[in-house]
Amino acid sequence: MPDAGGTRLKMILTGQQPQPSVSGALCPLCEAEVPHQVTSRGQFRVLFCSNCQLQFSSPMENPGADFYQEFYLYADRDDAHRASGRGPDWRFQTCLKLCRADAGPKLLDIGCADGEFLALARTQGFDVFGIDFDERAVQKARRLRQLEHVMTGPCESLKCIEGWTEFDVITLFDVLEHLSSPLGTIVTVRELLKPGGKVCITVPRLDRYPRVFDEAADFPPHHLTLWTAHALAVMLRTAGFDEVRIMEKPLLLQDLWKHLKWPTLRYIRKLKANPRDLIESGHSSSPKPSRVAGLVKKPLRMSLQPLNWVLQAGSLGRGHTLLALGTKPFSGS
Ligand SMILES: [Zn+2]
Repeated sequence: MPDAGGTRLKMILTGQQPQPSVSGALCPLCEAEVPHQVTSRGQFRVLFCSNCQLQFSSPMENPGADFYQEFYLYADRDDAHRASGRGPDWRFQTCLKLCRADAGPKLLDIGCADGEFLALARTQGFDVFGIDFDERAVQKARRLRQLEHVMTGPCESLKCIEGWTEFDVITLFDVLEHLSSPLGTIVTVRELLKPGGKVCITVPRLDRYPRVFDEAADFPPHHLTLWTAHALAVMLRTAGFDEVRIMEKPLLLQDLWKHLKWPTLRYIRKLKANPRDLIESGHSSSPKPSRVAGLVKKPLRMSLQPLNWVLQAGSLGRGHTLLALGTKPFSGS
């Protein structure tokens, strides 16, 4: 592969951008030329880099906060307290097993949303900080969870916030796939960590199954990148991390339902309102679930567990999400 280490890192640190070729596009991670596209979605081409195994969008353009406020997958943000009725979150639990507060308590969550993980980390002894570009979510994090150190802003603003440095742990849960410069963000993360500090990242796995049921969620403009374990390791090592560890969250039936429920409910609602609306595409605001639905969630989740074991026993239960952990070395930082 092309120089995935020093040269690329120097370009990022000095603000230089790789120049795309006329016929193809340069991989935003390893800079290999990628001449063939997988598919397209509107103005976006979707390409796969066989060199580092990253799938990426061309152009790499984040659609902005307004898009996410309307996108149906974020409807939960309208009712943050319902999070307490959900099952344990594999991403959060795994991260808190790998990163302990007694090894260093200062933790930053990038893309903190309404602060669900920050509130959990606080109970484990962490001194928590968070940033998200959704002002509405940040307000809820302050009001509903009494989180003090949460701010609104893009990742690029992190280096300008006084006192927000020398972190022991920085987390990005399902954030990287939305960013126009994922490698640049991880380089910034390394600068904000103490030597020996850890970064914990989760991303959707490239070949996961929910796209079969809800394709829009895994393509641009929603997800600009989809990741393999190899691509994650390339990114962390290019950004200067070592002791890289990659884990897979198994596919659960609940994952499939999460991606299936809102399109299904929206379809039914439109069918009742006006059958002609069915020809419309795109995602609008979502219906809210009833209180009855909240009461049956826990027993339903328990009854699904044996089926999940069966699912995971075969190849169908491959990873839904990848979790990567990297450590900032004590030397060369
Ligand atoms: Zn690449």
